[in-house]
Amino acid sequence: MYKIMTPGPTTIKENVRKARSLETTNPDLDLEFYDYYKETCDLLRLLLHTKNEAYILSGEGILGLEAACASLTEPKDRVLILDNGVFGKGFADFVRIYGGNPVSFASDYHKPINPIELKDFLEKDSDFKYATVVHCDTPSGVLNDVEAISRLLKEYGILTVVDSVAGMFGEALNVDEAQIDILCGGSQKALSAAVGLTMLWVSSDAINAMENRSTPIASFYANILNFKDYYDKKAFPYTPPISDIYGIRAALENVMADKEILIRHKKIAEATRKAIQKSGLQLFLKEGYSNTVTAVSVPSALTDREILDTIRTKYGIMIAGSFDVLAGKVIRIGHMGENAREACMSETMDALTKTFKDLGYPLKCDLKMTFLEALQEE
Ligand SMILES: *Cc1c(COP(=O)(O)O)cnc(C)c1O
Repeated sequence: MYKIMTPGPTTIKENVRKARSLETTNPDLDLEFYDYYKETCDLLRLLLHTKNEAYILSGEGILGLEAACASLTEPKDRVLILDNGVFGKGFADFVRIYGGNPVSFASDYHKPINPIELKDFLEKDSDFKYATVVHCDTPSGVLNDVEAISRLLKEYGILTVVDSVAGMFGEALNVDEAQIDILCGGSQKALSAAVGLTMLWVSSDAINAMENRSTPIASFYANILNFKDYYDKKAFPYTPPISDIYGIRAALENVMADKEILIRHKKIAEATRKAIQKSGLQLFLKEGYSNTVTAVSVPSALTDREILDTIRTKYGIMIAGSFDVLAGKVIRIGHMGENAREACMSETMDALTKTFKDLGYPLKCDLKMTFLEALQEE
C-alpha cells in the first residue's frame, strides 16, 4: 500500500472505515433512515454556515457539478463560465451538454480571478442565468475568493454555482454570507471520507429557477428536484448508498470535533510552500495559494513521470501530476483533510528531497528540515 498524498482521494481515518462496515437496514423502507440522512444533511448545513437545504447524492464529485448544470440549464440559456483553471473551464462542457450557451470569462491560470476585472466585465454584459466558479481549482491549486465573487454576481441578478469540492473543510466558506445558490462538494477530498458521494447545498432561488423552467430537466440522476421532498414524502429517488452515508457521517463528526482543522491546513500549507521556495523549486502559482494542495513546477531538466515514479516506487508515497493544459508541467502534493498533518507531510518532504537527489537534481535545502523549521516559526 502506498501512502496517498494526492489532492484527493485522501487518507480515510479508521473510524470512518469502520462506520462503512456497520450492519445496514433497508434505507428506502426504514423510516429511521430518513431521519439519519436528514441529520447528516443538517450537519452539512451547519458546517457550511447555511439555511439552504443540503442533499447527498450517490456519485463522485463530478455528479454534483453535472447535477447543478443539468438542473439549471435550459436550451439557449447564457451561462457565465469563470475560467482560471481546468475545472473552471470544464463547466462549459456540462452547460453545452444540456443545450446552454457558455460564455467564458477567462483569466490567468497563475492567479485568482480578480473581482474588479469581473465587475468591469459584468458592467458591459450581465445577461446570464447563472455563473460557475471553482473555489480551489485543484490542477493548479489556485484559490478563488468565491465569497466576494458570488456576492458580486448576485448584485447583477446572476445565480451562482460554486465547486468547492477541493476547498471545503480545508478553507473557510460561509454559504449564506456569500449567497451561493448551489455549492458542490465531494466526499474524498478534505472531508477524508471514501470516494463516491457528492454533496449539494441549494438555495431557494435555485429551486425557484428549477421549478420555473419552461422545459423539463433532461436527466433523472442529475435532477436536484428529485431530492427536494424526500423527507416529507419518505421517498428517495433511488436507494441511497447507506454504507457510504454511514461513512460520511463519521467523517463529518470528525470535522465537527476538530476545532483546529482550518488553522492546521493553513500552517501545513504555509510551511510546505516556504520549504519548496527555499529549495530552489518553483511554485506554479504567482498568488492565491489554496491551503489544500501545492503545485510545484517541474524543473526543465526533469519530467513529472520520473519524479512521480521515483517517489512512489522507492519511497512508497503517491503524489500527483496534473492534467489537461497543466499535464507534465507540475507535480502536486495534496495536504488536505487527514493528510494535513505534520507526520504525513514531513515524511513526504523527506521522500521528495531524496527523490530529487536520486534524479541528479539536488535541492538547495532539505525539504523536511525546512518544513519542520517553518512549522515551528508559525
Ligand atoms: C476532485 C475534484 C472534483 C471531482 O472530480 P474527480 O473526478 O475526483 O477529479 C471536482 N472539482 C474539483 C475542483 C476537484 O478537485
